[in-house]
Amino acid sequence: MTETLLEIRGLKTHFKTEDGMVRAVDGVDLTIDRGETLGVVGESGCGKTVTAMTVLKLIQMPPGRIVAGSILWQGRDLVTLPAEAMRKVRSKEIAIIFQEPMTSLNPVYTVGQQIAEVLRLHEGLNRHDAMDRAVEMLRLVNIPTPERRVRDYPHQFSGGMRQRVMIAMALSLSPQMIIADEPTTALDATVQAQILDLLLRLQHESGTALIMITHDLGVVADIADDVMVMYAGRPAEKAAKRDVFYAPHHPYTMGLLESIPSSSAVGDRLRPIPGSPPSLINLPSGCKFHPRCGYVLDRCLIEEPPLRPLGPDAHHSSACWLPVKAAGLSEQAEELRARMVHEGRGEAAAEVFQAEAAGAFGIDGSAAG
Ligand code: SF4
Repeated sequence: MTETLLEIRGLKTHFKTEDGMVRAVDGVDLTIDRGETLGVVGESGCGKTVTAMTVLKLIQMPPGRIVAGSILWQGRDLVTLPAEAMRKVRSKEIAIIFQEPMTSLNPVYTVGQQIAEVLRLHEGLNRHDAMDRAVEMLRLVNIPTPERRVRDYPHQFSGGMRQRVMIAMALSLSPQMIIADEPTTALDATVQAQILDLLLRLQHESGTALIMITHDLGVVADIADDVMVMYAGRPAEKAAKRDVFYAPHHPYTMGLLESIPSSSAVGDRLRPIPGSPPSLINLPSGCKFHPRCGYVLDRCLIEEPPLRPLGPDAHHSSACWLPVKAAGLSEQAEELRARMVHEGRGEAAAEVFQAEAAGAFGIDGSAAG
């Protein structure tokens, strides 16, 4: 029997700027159960981090504001929770691991003091007991000779070890959920694998839920149960990991998959998604992905597709006007998509597509850049 920990409905976080309203998160729905790992993927600027920061109410308000939606954490709505109660939720119930530990750790305190401070603040431990627990936590995340290293400063650790210190700090209060925001992006491949192994082992041992925010589908393939692909501040596709990799429906998801280097395609050029994510101040009409989509139809320019279920169990959903049967990487699915383009692309959509194709591939069809 699964137990839902977090349920986000219709969440919108906007920022008022001199240039206009930035719709950083614009209608996110997600659910995460105890022990589950949800991968949140998408390019930079698609709203992944702002979603995480909104859950923990770490958005600076103003200029940021939660304009709509609810964040139900074990039945309580964090949107309306008073600041004092929210402080208890942070760290003790939900912890976050940031991308760059060097900027998250305080350079003038030892790592032991920083872990101990969390324990003293939230668990009321005395200085001595808190430091003993800090040593235990460093041991848990495989820092060698933790009794000695607990007295070292952040700059005395390598990048991978600093990230492990951040994980130790996040785990020190045994939270029920961890949000890991690109925790391995700044690390080399070997250390990245060690960190992911560590997170998985600790999660397995403690039954913690994990939201892994990343732009790396390889990381998602390694650890996620479910995946949410985000684009322009909203979910483009949500599904079990297997469906995202083998039966993607949204052309943006397909584009992300085609951008992954593959050892079986030696000599082939990677196929990047043309263009770049839209300004969150001036979003395109209709489907927000239409200026970059190879399957754009006339309808896509006018009507924004809702996130709709692709099957009876509603576990796989996509915000795209292509038919449900167009999901997947098979030849039949591609033929169906091509037929839809043939039937549904009039002059307006053809112009959008040609303009994007000319920019991305050069007028003569050769790859630009
Ligand atoms: Fe492409 Fe249209 Fe689907 Fe948007 S709705 S992803 S433009 S096919």
